[in-house]
Amino acid sequence: MAKYDFDYFVIGAGSGGVRSARIAANHGARVAIAEERYLGGTCVNVGCVPKKLLSYAAHFAHDFEDAAGFGWTVGDRRHDWARLIANKNTEIERLNGIYRHLLEGAGCTLIEDRATLVDAHTVAVGDDRYTAETILIATGGWPTLPDQPGAREYGITSNEAFFLEEMPEHVVIAGGGYIAVEFAGIFNGLGANVCQLYRGPMFLRGFDDDVRETLAEEMSKAGIDLRFNTIIDRIEKTSDCLLAHLTDGSVIETGAVMFAIGRRPNTAGLGLEDVGVALNRKAAIIVDDRYRTSVPNICALGDVTDRINLTPVAIAEGHALADTLFGGTPRGVEYENVPSAVFSSPPVGSVGLTEAAARAKYGAVDIYRSSFRPMKHTLGGRDERTMMKLIVDRATDRVVGCHMVGLDAPEITQGVAVAMNCGATKAQFDRTIGIHPTAAEELVTMRTKAPEPVGEDA
Ligand code: NDP
Repeated sequence: MAKYDFDYFVIGAGSGGVRSARIAANHGARVAIAEERYLGGTCVNVGCVPKKLLSYAAHFAHDFEDAAGFGWTVGDRRHDWARLIANKNTEIERLNGIYRHLLEGAGCTLIEDRATLVDAHTVAVGDDRYTAETILIATGGWPTLPDQPGAREYGITSNEAFFLEEMPEHVVIAGGGYIAVEFAGIFNGLGANVCQLYRGPMFLRGFDDDVRETLAEEMSKAGIDLRFNTIIDRIEKTSDCLLAHLTDGSVIETGAVMFAIGRRPNTAGLGLEDVGVALNRKAAIIVDDRYRTSVPNICALGDVTDRINLTPVAIAEGHALADTLFGGTPRGVEYENVPSAVFSSPPVGSVGLTEAAARAKYGAVDIYRSSFRPMKHTLGGRDERTMMKLIVDRATDRVVGCHMVGLDAPEITQGVAVAMNCGATKAQFDRTIGIHPTAAEELVTMRTKAPEPVGEDA
């Protein structure tokens, strides 16, 4: 008789939980996975996937406009938001089905309900109790709303933005992270008047300064009203609109106020504190390099640990943990050079260190920067530039950072991340033959170092 009902009980069927459950089951473990909301978690339902579909929708607006320069006459254009959302929902349902199929096909027991911890080896689901040798918490995160008056009553988050019945003609977006800039581009592309607010002097904190400045410039040129150093003080509802009162004293009449001011780990009400799982001050679960919490047989990964909150990271962690526990191959995840993209308009691709971080770490670095008008925009006429930047550690010649704003940036950056993980040097970039004509070839043809900032050693 087995000591426990299951070898592995996973709470949360998002990106990390599903991968971990599936791989564990493939290794022969008896696995249960509980999910209270939707299969596939944030990424599939209210994150990466629907966001990218909406981003595609928004980009057609550019394509229609730019087509004229290539000889096309494009007739009347109208966008049907309801149809977009309905089609998006159908696609998401298809993906939910694929996730179900993957889990069931691997032999996992799927429990579609809320699970909470009773003790270190026991999970409660309604009136049922299940025991497991190892429990994984992969419950992800949830968007936050601020406490300002009116924010909770009238504000929305990305969760609701994906299901709006109508596209607002005017949107105020509060926040300066991934989600805020992505939605600013989506709503702007679909024809709304967009005002984006950020509390500091320049949004996308943590990204390379050239990326931040280039994107701010391009978004402004595209008609987005960017306002920095201000936030919403309160929201008031009138008979026909919302009034967003800002801390700088201005008032904006708008149809919707969307907050994208960060996400909170989903740790409340799970019984974590009762069984002794330690949380940090942001309520994220603290784990070691093998995803063990302060209760050794309870593990956690993905957004609920609030480290690198990206789907592919959660997937990699879930896979590594399952291999460690049930596959006889203990391993962690390599967190250096995690690439990421912001699906803004134009998009951003980024991997490795920012210039500031590279200077702090290595001292002497060489910067190669290029800014150009993409070929598509020569005939298309769009006033949008591409910026590319390589950061090289002068002592070793290794490329330690690559940052890009412009068409295809996310697609290009993935390949650069592989090269950087192989320790590629600038000389090896230079030896690589470009693909012509592409924007990507710029990365292997940049030869001129940017001048040193004033006050730096040459
Ligand atoms: P982020 O943490 O990226 O950004 C939050 C933004 O809100 C920051 O600009 C922050 O400012 C600002 N902010 C925080 N608190 C307040 C406040 N009280 N009032 C006003 N502004 C505030 O969160 P997001 O919600 O954009 O995204 C969450 C995470 O999801 C990301 O960190 C990312 O890991 C992931 N994600 C990844 C995507 C991708 O890979 N393409 C897409 C979407 C999300 P400050 O910088 O000053 O702290």
